[in-house]
Amino acid sequence: MSSPKLIRYRSGTAQWHMSKRAVDRAVPDVLKWSEDDCIEYIIKVRFGSRKTVACAHCNTICDHYWRPLEKRWKCKCCGKTFSVTSGTVYANHRKPLQLILVTVLMWINGAAGKPALELKRHFNMSYNTCYVWPQKMREALVRGFNVGLLSGDMEMDGAHQSGYRANEKRGVPQGAQRIASGASVTDIKSAARLTQTGNATANKKGRGAVNPEFGNRLPKNRRLLLAVCKRSGLKGKGACNTRVAVGIAETPPIVEAVAKSFIAKAESYLNTDSSPAYTSLGKNFKAHRTVEHSKMLSGPNGENNNQVEELNGRYDRLEKGTYLNIEPKYLLDYAVETAFRSDTRRISNGQQMDLAMHLAMNVGHSIFWRGFTHGTHRDFELSHPLPMPARSSGPKKGRKPGANLFNRLPR
Ligand SMILES: [Zn+2]
Repeated sequence: MSSPKLIRYRSGTAQWHMSKRAVDRAVPDVLKWSEDDCIEYIIKVRFGSRKTVACAHCNTICDHYWRPLEKRWKCKCCGKTFSVTSGTVYANHRKPLQLILVTVLMWINGAAGKPALELKRHFNMSYNTCYVWPQKMREALVRGFNVGLLSGDMEMDGAHQSGYRANEKRGVPQGAQRIASGASVTDIKSAARLTQTGNATANKKGRGAVNPEFGNRLPKNRRLLLAVCKRSGLKGKGACNTRVAVGIAETPPIVEAVAKSFIAKAESYLNTDSSPAYTSLGKNFKAHRTVEHSKMLSGPNGENNNQVEELNGRYDRLEKGTYLNIEPKYLLDYAVETAFRSDTRRISNGQQMDLAMHLAMNVGHSIFWRGFTHGTHRDFELSHPLPMPARSSGPKKGRKPGANLFNRLPR
């Protein structure tokens, strides 16, 4: 018996991951670093060199006085002292720097993210620490990586994420039902009626935005993950830059706000699906190519959304396999992590860590996670066009959280 011939497209991904160039920093390497090595590493990624250290108080760039015993600088201008993590997301840390760096490397090495619970087991630290440190890295990416305009051959699309029964709707056009091959017209009509009844039941549960595509009301905590990908233009190399945003629905005002934040429209091409949300937006671009997904996946002139679909696949894998049940409030943080992992997929893990640490050291204090374990929670959701108020979930934090029946971990 002969087995069926498997034809697999060679993208070079496996070759890259198996190559020596893909890994240039290992956990045992970082474990060998002394405290001074860790400080030198952070100086390199934060300031470039000891000669160009910026004071955390007055921002003067100079080779400030180094006090080797305190391991702090004294500013030559304002006279105040500061350390290598002053004014960063890791300010006032109490754990050794080496532990922070090892955690960051392990988080970077995770193919689809790194669960906080796993870090807790690796390091035997409190869950809060293992949860907040990667969140601070995500914050650095949200504020430092997911910014700026892109131009070129752009793709844009929205994906349903979070909320009631979002999981089963992913990748399936809403209002549609799978129809067996060879079904008659009567079968199709009855299937459509069933779907409508299903939608009506779902609508009772939520009072969210109206889905412009099918007119049904989306569940209250449903969000649209809107992604913008820049095609690299190289065959088999996919997208090179990604920006993500969260909106309550895929409507013209929301997609226009996202495009305004991330695309230099006049000098770009836009590729979308046939959703009416993009019709008026497309007129501001050099050209607007659309593909009707119900008919084909890709048109003859490159009309496709494949790079955005790739990102959506990555996000689904990250949620299903690692982070599980991401709530709307933190959806953007995890989506930006996905975009970062996607954009840096072809650089070595050491370079990925350098880039992430460079951002973590240069976006200033943590706005979202300072005082988290003491009950200070972000009370807004980073959505487009404007942030929305969001209540904190989970039990009260603090020294005496009080009676808590479920003892749920923060998320
Ligand atoms: Zn100063």
